[in-house]
Amino acid sequence: MTVLRQLVYRSRTTHKDAFQQIEQIEADSEAFNSRYNITGLLLTDGEYFFQVIEGPGEHVQALFEKLKSDPRHNNIVKICDHPVFQRDFGAWNLRTLTLKSDRSCYWLPDDIYLKRDSQVYGLINSFANGRWRGCLPEHHRIGLHRSISTTGLSATRDEQSPYQFAFQPIIDTHLGTISSIEALLRDNTGRYPEQILTDLSRSKRYEFDLTSKQYAIAMASELLSSNQSLSINLLPGALTQFSDASDYLLSYLEQFSMKPQQLIVEVTENEIINEGDAFMRAVETLRSKGIRVAMDDFGSGYAGLSVLADFLPDKIKLDRAIACNIHEHGPRQAIVHAVMEFATTLGIPLIVEGIEKMDEWYWLQHIGIQKFQGFLFARPELCGVSAINFQT
Ligand code: C2E
Ligand code: MN
Ligand code: MN
Repeated sequence: MTVLRQLVYRSRTTHKDAFQQIEQIEADSEAFNSRYNITGLLLTDGEYFFQVIEGPGEHVQALFEKLKSDPRHNNIVKICDHPVFQRDFGAWNLRTLTLKSDRSCYWLPDDIYLKRDSQVYGLINSFANGRWRGCLPEHHRIGLHRSISTTGLSATRDEQSPYQFAFQPIIDTHLGTISSIEALLRDNTGRYPEQILTDLSRSKRYEFDLTSKQYAIAMASELLSSNQSLSINLLPGALTQFSDASDYLLSYLEQFSMKPQQLIVEVTENEIINEGDAFMRAVETLRSKGIRVAMDDFGSGYAGLSVLADFLPDKIKLDRAIACNIHEHGPRQAIVHAVMEFATTLGIPLIVEGIEKMDEWYWLQHIGIQKFQGFLFARPELCGVSAINFQT
């Protein structure tokens, strides 16, 4: 049995006036839609389109692929795509409606019956109220000039050491500078941090995690200028198992002439939850000494908002799963808007990790994010920082 699906997207017209396009679109889609048993709704406010497509799953998918290459629109953002029990617009192969001014759902014609608590009703309302109209038009993109270029640097490598650190910069694209570098654990056989750490017993793991940072700080001291910081990753256990963890970090910093204000400790949200109060106390100690704390991989774990509320970090790093294809993914966009609202209200700088594509960066920059980390700018480099050559 084929599954009935409903897909919703919004896009932006490539013409001057979408009102003039929509009759033609309705006419053009007639044959395909009736042949493949597709029904739906198309709304426009003159600039943006908002379309609901429903029908047998494979036909909905095929139509969406076809629509993605239709030159009459661009900036296509998929808002949802899921199985449904029944159609909302069963009576129409494609019903088109225009929004001439800001209105909400009460203007829907009487023959469209939508449950008030259904997602489609809510989505149409939010489109009518302007929620899905933000995007980055081509002419703005051309006007958005940003550039950052830096030369690569390398640090003195301890050949005896069984493990190393790679460094990846965090870029402020507003200022065009590197604001900090993150130390990422590596070993000499090319293994990644998770493997290196899980191979150690629990108690050894915490001790290793903490003491290895002496080497990260030593190298970073050769890579940083005094207005830049070093971000290190620590398991919360490395802070809670050792009551003098912050003193260790301070002594390493002092040894290599770095200020406590230059150090940021990153912890991931799903690790924090296990540590509870002891972790909160460890964070207080770090802060009292001038070391800052960032919540890493925010949005990927389990602890989520309550942990964020209890432990107001000095920085929030949004996980790369959220940044991935953000320019065409409606729900991720909604999440980023919400996190940004939260961070801005509380004065916490937001960093987005894992930027690989120009389109992802454009979208995030456009909504006001300033700090980024990702392969688009620089990949992690062993015992050094790679050169950056970024230009829009
Ligand atoms: P993280 O702290 O979120 O570090 C960023 C990870 O994302 C790094 O992976 C980096 O190589 C990768 N990355 C950066 N930009 C991009 C991008 O544009 N695309 C993609 N696909 N990946 C990108 P890595 O080095 O494998 O580290 C994985 C995790 O291991 C880190 O995630 C961090 O949580 C942890 N880790 C690293 N070093 C240490 C350490 O010394 N101690 C502890 N406890 N954990 C560490
Ligand atoms: Mn990190
Ligand atoms: Mn991260």
